[in-house]
Amino acid sequence: MQIRAISLDLDDTIWPIEPVMLRAEQRMDAWLKTHCPRAAAHYPIAAMRALRNRVADENPHLAHDFTAQRRLSLSAALTPHGYGDEHVEAAFAEFYAARNQVECYVDALPALERLAARFPLVSLSNGNADLDRIGLSRFFRFSICARDFGAAKPAPQIFHAACERLGLPPAAVLHVGDDPELDVAGARAAGLRSAWVNRTQAAWSHAHVPDLTVRDLHDLANVLRTPPLASQSNTAL
Ligand SMILES: [Mg+2]
Repeated sequence: MQIRAISLDLDDTIWPIEPVMLRAEQRMDAWLKTHCPRAAAHYPIAAMRALRNRVADENPHLAHDFTAQRRLSLSAALTPHGYGDEHVEAAFAEFYAARNQVECYVDALPALERLAARFPLVSLSNGNADLDRIGLSRFFRFSICARDFGAAKPAPQIFHAACERLGLPPAAVLHVGDDPELDVAGARAAGLRSAWVNRTQAAWSHAHVPDLTVRDLHDLANVLRTPPLASQSNTAL
């Protein structure tokens, strides 16, 4: 079946996430030092990170909701030192503003332009990025994130929700992402086609190979440039 729409992962597919998170942690830490110094003294960046990991471990029902995890962590850090909900919200706002200051991979924007001209694009992310704030929402018909949906990739339901909203069967949708488990295996299990964005030239080490492997989104746009003719198509795509 021909590809008729594309769903895209965001973090580490369109922008690298690690530098974003490091800056967000630093910005929140600076805010805490100014506005909540007693808590900041107890929770420097490494301790705050450990607290957040502990909160995530203790709240598996929030595994799909990084925003709730972050707010709970802040509450656990601030409340014992006499700071209230307004400080939790303000600290989160600092973090979240920086979390949405991403720097896209150089191939991403030109490739999104090319892909969006040919396919409906949707985003499918386990993260809590806000494409309106980031300025990329114009490329996407809609966005589904795990926090709003209530389940995270690789759950098939989140892939199926995207297909249903597109009005397409899963086999007509290509999911594109960097994560072999969450993106490639998840898409495959849900009946979608899969493209692995392998920017680091890593070896594939999972059971089922992706339908496509590309080194970046420019490569993906090139591969999908010409629709395969039914008579001469010798690939699944
Ligand atoms: Mg990713």
